[in-house]
Amino acid sequence: MSTINVNVVTPDGAIYEGDVEMVSARSQSGELGILPGHVPLVAPLSVGAVRLKYESRINLVSVSGGFIEVRPDSVTILAEAAENPSEIDVERAQRAKERAEDRLDRATQEDIDFKRAQLALKRASTRLDVAGR
Ligand code: ATP
Repeated sequence: MSTINVNVVTPDGAIYEGDVEMVSARSQSGELGILPGHVPLVAPLSVGAVRLKYESRINLVSVSGGFIEVRPDSVTILAEAAENPSEIDVERAQRAKERAEDRLDRATQEDIDFKRAQLALKRASTRLDVAGR
């Protein structure tokens, strides 16, 4: 089975490096499924879980926006923040989720605060999903 080399990098350093058979990531224009030999592209990423498949195992990494650069033999994800499941503080994510839900209850849909809270909720929910809660 051919593989593609993946790096997930944040301002704090490298989060993941490895050879995988397939990468799935959510770009701002939709879900990307990347196999070895994919055409080169650069795309902005949404907040979401990146799925890394190798020998029928799937590793998840939570990614909070950034960019993905695809080349035929490599994928680089430059993320604003990213965590492996073991790095996620579940209680912190739960608190962030509750805070965001509170703000969404109080803000009106046109508010900047509403949009910020929606993104914060998405980050927290993604972290909880990736941590398996
Ligand atoms: P919080 O409100 O809890 O800070 P946030 O979504 O605003 O959450 P970010 O701005 O996305 O946090 O991330 C700031 C830094 O904190 C990043 O390095 C990120 O990896 C880390 N981080 C945020 N939440 C968690 C968490 N639940 N577990 C581990 N690391 C986290």
